[in-house]
Parts: sequence; structure tokens; C-alpha cells
Amino acid sequence: MSLGEFQFISRIKDSFRSPEGVLGIGDDCAVLPQHEGRETLVSSDMLVEDVHFLLDGITPFELGWKSAAVNISDIAGMGGKPVASFLSLALPAKLDDNWREAFIEGYRQLSERFDCPLLGGDTTSSPEKLSISVTVLGECPAGTSLKRSGAKVGDLICVTGNLGASAAGLDSILNHREAVRELLDAHLKPLPRICEGISLREAGAHSCMDISDGVASDLRHICEASDVCAEVDVNLLPISSETRAYADKFDKSAAGLALEGGEDYELLFTADEAALAGLAIPYYRIGRIVPKCETQIHWIGADRDYLGYRHF
Ligand code: ADP
Ligand code: MG
Repeated sequence: MSLGEFQFISRIKDSFRSPEGVLGIGDDCAVLPQHEGRETLVSSDMLVEDVHFLLDGITPFELGWKSAAVNISDIAGMGGKPVASFLSLALPAKLDDNWREAFIEGYRQLSERFDCPLLGGDTTSSPEKLSISVTVLGECPAGTSLKRSGAKVGDLICVTGNLGASAAGLDSILNHREAVRELLDAHLKPLPRICEGISLREAGAHSCMDISDGVASDLRHICEASDVCAEVDVNLLPISSETRAYADKFDKSAAGLALEGGEDYELLFTADEAALAGLAIPYYRIGRIVPKCETQIHWIGADRDYLGYRHF
């Protein structure tokens, strides 16, 4: 037996309380107060079964968690604080009530952790595949959000944490290999770097984005938007011992996992020395921004080019 659409929405409504002064689930629209002197950040993303995830490779709890996390991560990439999210689901009949409950619970736990209430969405049936669409709102002081376009020649290129673990986790899932918890968690239960993004904005970083497609691909976006080129020293990439061990064991390149794997959800940013000196969060320097030239990214210490994940 399955809960009807309205019962399911009412379950969701019961699981998420709207903050004071905010109208959430239950009317035609959510209503949020405006805050003077702040700008609103809005980001929308879709996760489609068999494109972004395989149903038998992720638990419903993890999928709910990850759906919220990867979207809130876009707010982190702008240096913002999340305000609210909207969740639209096209649900196939094969997913029963227990599955739906666990999905909503994962979504709820991640949202609660980042103080980001669910204020609405849409629910429909789907003939076969599950699709999940999430919109997240965030905010920061007006005129201060961190863009991809702000990188300056001489900036250091940095990341907020380890790279490649998520790619190794995904590889182990796809090849049905023995699970290493650290790698699986990096892939299935990422944590958006909200505090790190806010620190970067406050310290005056020049450009920033979250790493979803891999540094090799994402850094190109910063280069294009900022009209600059980059040098990256492959020997400086922060790669965990678990990721290195996985790469060694299965004859993969650790740098390849780190640069091309994607879904790290760490922040990739550029900043000058003065901004870095004022930073209270851990970060790793991996390269620097150079004037526009022929090779968009020069990989120091590598014998090949790196490309990163392409959706098409
Ligand atoms: P409408 O007919 O206006 O689309 P719905 O019956 O779809 O209204 O939705 C009723 C309320 O439930 C709305 O506030 C909507 O935002 C919310 N809602 C529907 N589906 C979801 C969902 N998957 N997650 C969160 N809120 C939802
Ligand atoms: Mg609707």
C-alpha cells in the first residue's frame, strides 16, 4: 500500500517546520521576508536516476542527504548562507513508502544541519525513473557574493579539502569492489562547505566555486569567466591516504581521480596572499593564476592533460 500524493506531502510538511515569519509548505507559494542590505542567491539542480545515481548503489537516506547537500553546496560556492530549499520529485511506483520516508529523512537531516528549511516543492508520479529537482535559496551581504569571474593574475589557486575520494568511492560502487567507508561517504554523503565559503567571502577571496565536475573542468570555468589562465602543480594536490591506496591497488592515477573525478564538493578558490593570511580555515594551495595564454591550464609535474567530467 502506498501513501497518496497528499498524504506524502503532509508527511513532508510534518517533518519540516517553517522558521518564524516564514510561510512554508501548504499554500500556493512560500512567503519569505526580505532583508535589507542582502542579496539573494538562487540555484537549481536535477538528479536523474541512471544519469546521476543508480538506485541500487545508494540508500534512500543517502540519496535524500545528497540531493540537499549538492544543492546547498552551490550556495557555499558563492560564499552564501542557505535560507531555504524547494524539492520536486517525480516518483515511480517501484519506490514504496519506506523508501520515500528514508529519502525524506536523509534530506531532513542534511537540511537541519545547515539550518536550511524545506519550504515547498512539487510531487508527481513517473512511469519508470526517479527524478529529483532541488532549488536552494541563500543570501549574503549585497554585492559580496563570490563569483567565478573574479580571479586575478598572481592569485593563488586553492581548495578547501581532499580531492578524489568521491571518484574512488564511485569507482568502487560501479565495480562492486570491497567498500572503504571514507571513500563511500565522500561520494554518498558529501558535506557542503558553507562555513568555508563564508570565511572566504569575509577574507576577500577573488573567485570561488564548488567542485562538482572535478578541478580540471571546474578551474576552466574560472579561467574562462575571469579571462586568465592557470598553472596547477599536480604534486600539491591534497589526496587522502585512502584514495592513494585505492588508486595503487586498482592501478588508477590518484591525480586523475583528484582532477577528473568530480563530486568532491570542496571549494575551489583564488585569492591573493593578503586574503590567505586572514583565513582561519584549512586550505591547500595547488597552483596560481597566470595571464591569458594558449594553454588554459598548465599541469606542472604531469605527463598528460586533464579534462574533467563532461555531461554531454
Ligand atoms: P499545487 O497544486 O499548488 O502545485 P501541491 O498540491 O503540489 O500544490 O502542493 C501543496 C503544497 O505542498 C505546496 O506548498 C507545495 O510547495 C508543497 N509540496 C508539494 N510537493 C512537495 C515536495 N516534494 N517537497 C516539499 N513540499 C512539497
Ligand atoms: Mg504541485
